[in-house]
Amino acid sequence: MIGEENRGYLRFRQDDLEIITTTREAGTLLYRAGQAGVDHAATGGAAVDDTVVDENYRRLGETLGIPRERMVRVVLDHGCAIFEADRSAGGEGVSSDRQNLGGFDALVTGERNLYLGITTADCFPVILADRQRGLVGLAHCGWRGIALRLEALLFRKMLSLGAQPRDIRAVYGPGICPDCYVQNDPLLKRVFRDDLGCPSAVIPRRDGCYGIDLKEASRKNLLEAGFPGEILETGICNACDPRFFSVRREGAGTGRMLTLAALRGPGGSGAPRSAR
Ligand SMILES: [Zn+2]
Repeated sequence: MIGEENRGYLRFRQDDLEIITTTREAGTLLYRAGQAGVDHAATGGAAVDDTVVDENYRRLGETLGIPRERMVRVVLDHGCAIFEADRSAGGEGVSSDRQNLGGFDALVTGERNLYLGITTADCFPVILADRQRGLVGLAHCGWRGIALRLEALLFRKMLSLGAQPRDIRAVYGPGICPDCYVQNDPLLKRVFRDDLGCPSAVIPRRDGCYGIDLKEASRKNLLEAGFPGEILETGICNACDPRFFSVRREGAGTGRMLTLAALRGPGGSGAPRSAR
C-alpha cells in the first residue's frame, strides 16, 4: 500500500481505496456523549470538552481536504449492528450537534467519496472493499466484536449488496498486538480458544497470563465466512507505537484515533460535480 504520513494522520491509498488513521497529534476524536463502556467522568476523560473535539474534527477535515459533510461516523456500542450509510448521513458523528448514529459498530456504503469513520484505541479498524461494485465497509473489531464475528457479518452484508467474494479486499488498520494485549482473565481465553475455535490467538505468557492475538482471530473469522481474497495490514500496534493513543497503555480516559475509509473517484452518486 502507498502510505503518506503527515502531522496528525497516516494515509494509505491503493487504487481508489483510501484509508486514513489519525495519530495523537490530531487530538482525540471521541465526543463526551461518547461510546458505551467509557465513563468519562470516572476516567478523567471529561477534561476534554466537546468544543475541543469539534475543533479537532474541523482541523482534520481541513488538513485532509475532506469536507465533514462527506464523513459519517457511528457511535460505537460493542455490538454487531451495521449502518448502511448513504449521502444523507454525511456529517453525522463529526460535530457535537450531530451525534445521532448510536448503537452501530460497523458501516457500509455504495456511495463513492463518502468517508466511513470509527474511533479506536486498541481495537482494530477492519476495512473491506469491492472496488468493482463501489462498495466499502468498516468494522470496529475489539474482542467483543470479534467474538460476535462482526467482520464476517460485514463481509456477508457486502455480499448481500452485490459484492463478489473474490473482488473484496480486507485491510487491518492499527490495533493492539498480542505482546501488548496480555490478560489473565479466563473469560477471554475461553472466548478465543473455545467459542471461536482459535487456539493460535491465545499465546501463553508467564504467571498464567496470556496474550490475545485479536487480528489472528479476526482473520480466521473472515476466512471461515468464505473470504478468499487479499488481506493487507498496516503492521502497526498502537500500543507499541507512541504516535497513537492506547487504552491499554494509558487507561480508558485517553484519546481515540479516527479511522476513515472511502472509495474515491467518479461513479456513484457521490462524485464531486463541476459547476456549470
Ligand atoms: Zn504492541
